[in-house]
Amino acid sequence: MFQTSYIELSESAVKNNIEFIKNFLGDGVTFSSVVKGNAYGHGIAHYCPLAHKYGVRHFSVFSAQEALQVTQALPNHEFTLMIMGQIENAELEWAIEHHVEFYVFEHDRLNAAIAAAKQVGKKALIHVELETGMNRTGFPVQELTAIFKKIEANLDCVEVKGVCTHLAGAENIANYKRITDQLKRFKQYQTKLHPYQWLSAKKHVASSSATIRYLSSQMDLVRIGILQFGFFPTQEIFIHYSSKHKVNESPLKRILSWKTRVMAVKTVKAGEFIGYGTSYFTNGVTKIALIPVGYSFGYGRSLSNQGKVLINGSRFQVAGTVNMSMLAVDITSDDSIKKGDEVVLIGNQGEQELSVSSFSDFSQQINYELLTRLPQDIPRMVVK
Ligand SMILES: *Cc1c(COP(=O)(O)O)cnc(C)c1O
Repeated sequence: MFQTSYIELSESAVKNNIEFIKNFLGDGVTFSSVVKGNAYGHGIAHYCPLAHKYGVRHFSVFSAQEALQVTQALPNHEFTLMIMGQIENAELEWAIEHHVEFYVFEHDRLNAAIAAAKQVGKKALIHVELETGMNRTGFPVQELTAIFKKIEANLDCVEVKGVCTHLAGAENIANYKRITDQLKRFKQYQTKLHPYQWLSAKKHVASSSATIRYLSSQMDLVRIGILQFGFFPTQEIFIHYSSKHKVNESPLKRILSWKTRVMAVKTVKAGEFIGYGTSYFTNGVTKIALIPVGYSFGYGRSLSNQGKVLINGSRFQVAGTVNMSMLAVDITSDDSIKKGDEVVLIGNQGEQELSVSSFSDFSQQINYELLTRLPQDIPRMVVK
């Protein structure tokens, strides 16, 4: 009730994927579950408790806002939480108070963290991000000594939990030179840290792609997002994995299904247009089903006349433009479809599957974007 569509999360798929990742990692490598973007659209509130149930004890997010959501999703649970991006200086005291770790990649945040730690009376738990070639956030190498000297002078209020960087596109072999150069630089920069005997930080650089393709990049911790949700980052990374491990099928399972119900059915006579404008013309008598999902729910307008949905175990195509709140599909070939029948927008029905990736091919969106655009207010529920 009070929902036009809903999202199901498969608990057995979560378990399967976490087991796969843990088995794949080298001994002693920590798995940090990256749950930014509302857990890639799966929903922090529902996904984090499941991941925790199957043994995940480290989560990473982009912002303090998301960190707060994770703490709310896991009250009274033991885990480590790391902010990899934005935290305002005014939010630092909250983070320190709650033992939330955060990246530091510029002097202002380091200074503010030291001040906030003094205020709170607890240590700021930081990860020093290094610039190795992505040219996004990260301290340039020339500043390392100054940074570590400042930290050394403030060890009563700062603890370095990690030294890290981010790789600029490990999912694509075209970036091979750039990525291996970054890995080399990261290693070289470690020698600059030798003077700091007190430093026992975890080194981490790898996301899903690097974890699979550049095994040595796993280091002490990997920050894995898309893989845990059942997707290889790109077809290329899947081929790399499957040829190396001599498997044809993905060892991962998709967690998310997106479903709704037929809102109304109607018959349109030959020689008419369906919906706005003139993009869908009925060559013969045409039966359509109206579906209460449109682009305001993340079902892209670019799927107009292209997207497919599953009803009654078969595929049907979107007829006409995707509207803000609804769309029509051509169901002429199936006489039995009626109001209230289940419609699958992403996921399985009977023998058929609509994967996010096939969906993405139509709309030129990659998995990441399509998933994270699923609105937060679509209800999520956990199924077996
Ligand atoms: C999003 C993100 C990741 C995870 O990337 P995946 O490709 O989804 O595994 C890792 N590290 C950082 C810094 C990120 O922003």
